[in-house]
Amino acid sequence: MAERRAVLWLLAAAVWLAACDRPAPIVAFSGPTMGTTYSVKAVGPLPEGLDAAALQADLAGLLERLDQAMSTYRADSQVSAINRRDDDRPIALLPEVYAVLREAFEIHALTGGAFDITVGPLVDLWGFGPEQAGDRLPDPARIAALRAHVGMDKLRLIHEPPSLVKLDPAVRIDLSAIAKGYAVDALAERLEALGVENYLVEIGGELRVRGRNAEGRPWRIGIERPDPAGRRAGWLIEPGDAAVATSGNYRNFREVQGMRVAHIIDPRTGLPVRHDLVSVTVVAARCSRADALATALFVMGPEEGFALASRRNLAAFFVSAGEDGYRTRATAAFEALWVRSDPSSP
Ligand code: ADP
Ligand code: MG
Repeated sequence: MAERRAVLWLLAAAVWLAACDRPAPIVAFSGPTMGTTYSVKAVGPLPEGLDAAALQADLAGLLERLDQAMSTYRADSQVSAINRRDDDRPIALLPEVYAVLREAFEIHALTGGAFDITVGPLVDLWGFGPEQAGDRLPDPARIAALRAHVGMDKLRLIHEPPSLVKLDPAVRIDLSAIAKGYAVDALAERLEALGVENYLVEIGGELRVRGRNAEGRPWRIGIERPDPAGRRAGWLIEPGDAAVATSGNYRNFREVQGMRVAHIIDPRTGLPVRHDLVSVTVVAARCSRADALATALFVMGPEEGFALASRRNLAAFFVSAGEDGYRTRATAAFEALWVRSDPSSP
């Protein structure tokens, strides 16, 4: 009898193990947003009363609202309205815009001004904004004139009621380096509110994961090798329930009069960054923070950026161009996430 029970128990255990091994049903969809694309993977049966089409419509609506609030490409966005304002009276903010601005001020302070949402006019001048520049390098006098209206000290964020004051009404804001991360967080939080426990959400390469993938294992994230010709996975990490964002120079750049011009501007000089860094990847609990930090550490470069990341115990990974290939450096917090730290091993 005892033997029979043991056999039954073993059978039950085997069935349970098999159930754990079987890939869970997965819902996956994608679409355009914020000048790039988003993609969502939800693993496990969807909660009662929720189907894939309804879920996609819900999340697409959320993205549309955020893009509508924060795009510099849309004349009717709140950011465009802020940029048109030419007085110093407080501008009442949408909750989402307030949340992004608060984070932007935090990262600005943390990085000694390397992250700065007022660099927009310089980004445009160097040819990456809504108004594309020509094929000549900008005139230094023009750079100096624009720099007079760049700097987050020319803005004041008021917490109650959430509003923004343009101390210099000529200042313009550009949330490109943080808005995608914020939108990733919004998607993740919406999924959690709907009862989805295992997911990967991604917008333009910035992503956030939680729980398990379709194989029932923790999500693994590949970090591309800096190869302009293609997108090859190189390094591999297991970030846990966290966000991963990369800021890079290797795809979004222009060649002007023989000079390689990056789309990331050092607000402290008014010039595109010029060190040999090709990408910085940051892992953090929230994607808005990872996104902004990746941009800021990229501005700061392989020495200053790495020092700050180590001092603050940030999980950050720096890839620089070297004589023969590239050089990499990971902070201690990032080292803890490695699945494959050598991209040449299979
Ligand atoms: P991407 O959005 O291309 O993946 P990032 O997240 O690093 O990369 O954002 C880069 C964008 O941020 C630029 O295209 C520009 O609009 C803006 N930007 C450039 N320099 C800075 C800076 N120092 N601080 C904040 N935003 C910046
Ligand atoms: Mg960024």
